[in-house]
Amino acid sequence: MNEKPKRILLLGASGSIGRQTLDVIEQHPERFELVGMCAGHQADFLVEAAGKHPGLQVLGIADESQKDRLEGLADAVFAGSEAMSEAIAACDYDILVNAVVGFRGLKPTLDSLYKGKSVALANKESLVAGGELVKKALKETGTHLYPIDSEHSAIFQCLQNNRHKDIRRLIITASGGSLRNRTREELKDVTPAQALAHPNWSMGARITMDSATMVNKGFEVMEAHYLFDVPYDQIETVLHDESIIHSMVEYQDHAILAQLGSADMHLPIQYALTVPDRPPLEEKSPLDMCMDRTLHFKKMDFERFPMLKTAYECGRAGGNRGAVFNGADEQAVALFLEEKISFLDIEQAILYALEHVEQKQDSTYEELVAADAAARAAVREFAAKKEH
Ligand code: MG
Repeated sequence: MNEKPKRILLLGASGSIGRQTLDVIEQHPERFELVGMCAGHQADFLVEAAGKHPGLQVLGIADESQKDRLEGLADAVFAGSEAMSEAIAACDYDILVNAVVGFRGLKPTLDSLYKGKSVALANKESLVAGGELVKKALKETGTHLYPIDSEHSAIFQCLQNNRHKDIRRLIITASGGSLRNRTREELKDVTPAQALAHPNWSMGARITMDSATMVNKGFEVMEAHYLFDVPYDQIETVLHDESIIHSMVEYQDHAILAQLGSADMHLPIQYALTVPDRPPLEEKSPLDMCMDRTLHFKKMDFERFPMLKTAYECGRAGGNRGAVFNGADEQAVALFLEEKISFLDIEQAILYALEHVEQKQDSTYEELVAADAAARAAVREFAAKKEH
């Protein structure tokens, strides 16, 4: 290959997606060059990874107390809450991989797009909370988003060489998460450890929790709406136990295209960085379809998973609803993991925040930050009331 390697700036390097992104980069030294990394607080990890990627332009860490450990490992080192934005401004790269977890990932997405650099996006909160702002940025700058979420990667793959106008619907598959075999009644005394045991995927704590509540699938519906410009009426979800079909697109002629694969994020990451190429990829256990296998599908149960209904409502309402939904969920999940509220309280806390934070349209980034903070405060208020 004669092309120059694609220069990658990676945010959220020490998380699950970040680490797998480094694997993909290291599998293809002729295609990719890591030019910068940021992480929250795992300096050890950055030091080790920087050793494998000499000549980095930038390193960033949110935890300022660890900045010293990174000095000398890159041309510039940034620390503190603005480290990611500073790294984006200082770094000369081709594509940003945003693998940050949570609302804090929105700002870097916007920063990169306004710098004129496309984003491979694993941070779904960028779209859930800031979808309207991100769309505006894409339009104004002519940049692109490449989905890393497995469902959206599947849809993205199924959309290649077909026409947007011919889409009948997007069908997003949902495993149902760690608690899928429990009734609502049986959800009452669920512990964090039970909720954190996902049957198919090994992921970070937040997303595993969000899978158990189905908030994650709700977020993915909103994400799909913004990524693919498809109205909510044409986005459906279906329960699919095995997580083998990662999602589907149905066209007007009723052809349904699906993407199948193992539960492994390496492919979505690699495809986001190589599309339309499909170079070889080492996977631990690639899917083998030439064996006895049954795939199950079940109609989505909105009574069992009410947060999915909430997601459609927030998505259709637009404005600051996504930011409030997400902020409330981040706070409620944290309180559940600290055993301050029960599993079913996560849903109640989110509904409480949506009711108590004022609805606004056409929010600026600063207004979304305020909505996010107000949602978290509302959830803490909900939790405090429960204690009395
Ligand atoms: Mg997903």
